[in-house]
Amino acid sequence: MLGGRKMRSLRSSGALAAALALAASSLGGCGVNPVTGKSELQFVSESSELQMGEQQYAPTRQGEGGDFNIDPALTEYVRGVGAKLAAVSDRKLPYEFVVLDSSVPNAWALPGGKIAVNRGLLPELKNEAELAAVLGHEITHAAARHGAKAQERGTLLQAGLAVAMIGAAVTDTNETLANLALQGAGAGAQMIQMKYGRDQELEADHYGMVYMQRAGYDLGAAVSLQETFVRLSQGKNQSWLEGLFASHPPSQERVTRNQATLAQLGGGKGDLGAERFTAKMAGLRRMKPAFDKYDQALALASKKDFAGARKLAGEAVQMLPREPRFTQLLGDLAMAQKQPGEAVGHYQKAIDLDPGYFGPYLGGGIAQFKLGNKPRAEEWLKKSSALLPTAPAAYYLGSIAKERGDTAGARQLFQAASGSQSEYGQLAAGEFQRMDLAQNPAQYLATAVRLDGAGQPVFLLQNRAQIPITGISITPVVTDAYGNIVQQGATQALRITLKPGETASVASGLAPMSAAQAASIAVRVTAAQPAP
Ligand SMILES: [Zn+2]
Repeated sequence: MLGGRKMRSLRSSGALAAALALAASSLGGCGVNPVTGKSELQFVSESSELQMGEQQYAPTRQGEGGDFNIDPALTEYVRGVGAKLAAVSDRKLPYEFVVLDSSVPNAWALPGGKIAVNRGLLPELKNEAELAAVLGHEITHAAARHGAKAQERGTLLQAGLAVAMIGAAVTDTNETLANLALQGAGAGAQMIQMKYGRDQELEADHYGMVYMQRAGYDLGAAVSLQETFVRLSQGKNQSWLEGLFASHPPSQERVTRNQATLAQLGGGKGDLGAERFTAKMAGLRRMKPAFDKYDQALALASKKDFAGARKLAGEAVQMLPREPRFTQLLGDLAMAQKQPGEAVGHYQKAIDLDPGYFGPYLGGGIAQFKLGNKPRAEEWLKKSSALLPTAPAAYYLGSIAKERGDTAGARQLFQAASGSQSEYGQLAAGEFQRMDLAQNPAQYLATAVRLDGAGQPVFLLQNRAQIPITGISITPVVTDAYGNIVQQGATQALRITLKPGETASVASGLAPMSAAQAASIAVRVTAAQPAP
């Protein structure tokens, strides 16, 4: 465990150094906020902002449910409303808008104006002006550099770069059920799960309303929307708390402020677009019973009632056969019930329905691996990684590389996956250590010298790896005040096996000595092997 942590911290400090170098090279100094007009310190340049959004938009969408492709007219509609607001915002950015296939009510913006609204948020809105209030708010987060400011505060800089180097990891996955508990943990995912400050929320509400007015919308919708959010937050609905409200906490203060902004701007007379909105939502409304079944199936699966979940997922597929996530869920549930042969069929169907989503390639790649179809497994796992790099994909690709004798490739993949805190991350860390131990034995065994009751030195060793270690050789050395070795003792081959975390004490065979003398003795680990 400690070995793994040490490697991670080494990597992070490298990332931090890189981040600092980047910050230093692009020191912007003083700038003017494009929305508020106030001067502020700006260390993240506009080109870095745009690059961050550009690089993270696609993987973040993948990690948050993937694009909602079965109602393209709905996405076109949301894009149209977004474009109207973007055109009158205070900052020209390469704005983009997309609807994601997630039941979690949420909306987010990445730096550079890359915005997404989840399918699950839309049915809670009453009219187009409320949608405009959501999008105007997110546009302001991007335009007013709120994400960039978080990077400047240092909260995201390090994490963002570390992830950019190793590829997004995945948290809380399960050996047989990689897809069901997937949560993106990439730089983009961190950015959208970040909580903005109270001032930034109020700023986004205020300028969102300014843009609404410029685009001709009724500002009363910004008030009614916040009232809805306050009511929903009092209901303590888990999906809301984990979704929109995690990054945008509603409050009576925001309702009151929006009422004041409405009075100040005098904008209660614009367009609500209620009929237009209702017409555009008709398709989604018809699909809602199927999505409800799907959500219930997911809830049962999370309680490990896989049979119950399969029944509901099957019903959802019957109701809406062209929805690729439903078919994928059947595959994930077959995997959970250890039926990879059946799962492959479901995953293939899901890929046919939506070849642009990583989920069925990942689940299907693991299923093919379990069936022994390694070339097909590798092909699908690589496709899933290209869309969204995940720890399970890196772990299985590493295993395939290792079997092929591609040691360098396997090491790299296992190391990348070991950056994840998930079960796959732990498995990959173990594999990496198995390959690395003989070359770097000292990294995985901590040593110390103690005096026993008779004043004789005893050598202590602790296994800090996740794998059992044997074949250990140690060499005692005497160092001077500067840590230079001035004398070297005989190397001892130890006949012990240490389990992860286990400590052993080894008689040194040296004569009794003072504590000061003992302090100049150290133990070097010169060899070690993974225990079978
Ligand atoms: Zn916000």
